[in-house]
Amino acid sequence: MASIKNFLPQQYETTGELPINHNYLIEQFADYPTILEKIGELVKRGDYTLGREVDAFEQRICELTGSSHAIGVGSGTDALFLSLKALDVGEGDEVITTPYTFFATIGAIATTGARPVFVDANWDYNIDPTKIEAAITKKTKAVLPVHWGGYSCDMDAITDVCRKHGLKLVEDSCHGIRASYRNKALGTFGDTGCFSMHPLKNLNVWGDGGYIVTDDEKIADHLRLLRNHGLANRNEAQVWAYNSRLDTLQAIVANHLLDKIDVVTDARISHAALYDELLGGIPELTVPDRPDYIKQVYHIYVIRAERRDELQSYLIEQGIDVKVHYPLPMHLQPASASYGYSEGDFPVAEELCRSVVSFPVHEFITEEQIRLVAKSVKEFYAKG
Ligand SMILES: *Cc1c(COP(=O)(O)O)cnc(C)c1O
Repeated sequence: MASIKNFLPQQYETTGELPINHNYLIEQFADYPTILEKIGELVKRGDYTLGREVDAFEQRICELTGSSHAIGVGSGTDALFLSLKALDVGEGDEVITTPYTFFATIGAIATTGARPVFVDANWDYNIDPTKIEAAITKKTKAVLPVHWGGYSCDMDAITDVCRKHGLKLVEDSCHGIRASYRNKALGTFGDTGCFSMHPLKNLNVWGDGGYIVTDDEKIADHLRLLRNHGLANRNEAQVWAYNSRLDTLQAIVANHLLDKIDVVTDARISHAALYDELLGGIPELTVPDRPDYIKQVYHIYVIRAERRDELQSYLIEQGIDVKVHYPLPMHLQPASASYGYSEGDFPVAEELCRSVVSFPVHEFITEEQIRLVAKSVKEFYAKG
């Protein structure tokens, strides 16, 4: 009997109907009949794969990011994986990344055959650029930083180190649509920038979807081959490749949501600012610095808390859906066993995993709800 079952990610569960929830998908797609109408037009046209909505979507992403090329793919994970393949990363290569991330970052590296080499995180939750150089070996081919929560990594330092050592740079911008560093869009610093449109991301579709941006025409062409059987045209394969196209149907949903991506982003930013203001003075909490040259888009609102697990249980009892992204760093996952890391190797990432907590920050949460969250946090610590 199979022991690995298809499981419903907890994020979608509405069990108990916590009054203050992370999940906002039903509200977000309340206007679904409009989208269904557009899907009806697709059904009449029949361009289900790489149809005109995919072209339109890619065009809009270029305009939004300032990139010369956007390539719609099957998921954010595939965006990372195909980027690494396009940059010729594989067996025998090493890719430097952070242990404080979502599984997909590491899975994308490992499934190319390359080895993920971890470098500790910083207190801003992102890879510590000052530690990258010491991790470079003759096998290092690329650096893969993650803009956690839509907060930019230190891109000046990272691009410098990549240039100096001739390393490729792939940005995991899966949390970073509309985010920027010194007024330049995240995803546009690297050889490629990778984005996810998973239902729980800021620009989210009705299943899986992702895209890659790049200014390099050769890489863009390679990616267009890699996502579509290597086909240059109907009858000619230039390389042997994958099938990871952005679905036309999902492109319809994405195009629909792109109309309001700035509304979504601005709401998240102002909700986060209110949390910062209300929580900033609580001594048991650590709110990270918010430098003004970084536009953070708060895919998640993450701070560090003393007695994190107790705080989480208390808030859930109060009807507030508080999550931990994530409790176990990547170097300590069972899947990393063969790499030979152990506890203590990356003390900052490990401490983050022990102390981070995420409060609901989506566009539909109200000011009143945010004030209630802050009040409950204060009550928890006042109880001692
Ligand atoms: C969601 C996510 C991905 C992968 O995206 P999918 O579209 O779910 O494959 C990659 N990296 C990070 C940091 C993510 O949060």
